[in-house]
Amino acid sequence: MTARPVPILTVLSRSLRLLCPACGQSLIASSPFHIRHHCPSCRSLFSREQGFFVGAILANVLTTELVILLVCMVWLIVIGSSYESVLAGLFVVALLFPVAFYHHSWSFWLGFDYLIEGLPRYDKTSSGEERDESRY
Ligand SMILES: [Zn+2]
Repeated sequence: MTARPVPILTVLSRSLRLLCPACGQSLIASSPFHIRHHCPSCRSLFSREQGFFVGAILANVLTTELVILLVCMVWLIVIGSSYESVLAGLFVVALLFPVAFYHHSWSFWLGFDYLIEGLPRYDKTSSGEERDESRY
């Protein structure tokens, strides 16, 4: 069985809405700051091997740095505030933005991985062992 490839814009849209990049039917998070193990609709595995989500952390750090740079430029150039007030504001942004962007960084990383190599399906065997069987 061969699945039809999902267009990049569809995956991006699903990632923005925190939906499963493979099917778009379920949220990737079951509660705040808790990413599901797998999609309940299509069984795509979200919690992969150890270290898989270093990419999500990297996406969060890079996006935070970009946002800090943009806020700094707007604050200094457009608004013309003092440097001390800008630093205080950037400190607050640096603390709050990564927390607010947490789910989206995971979602974008899952979407990126889905586009590159597909997500494995979660298959719980009768012996209780988990295994990654197929990718689509
Ligand atoms: Zn799904």
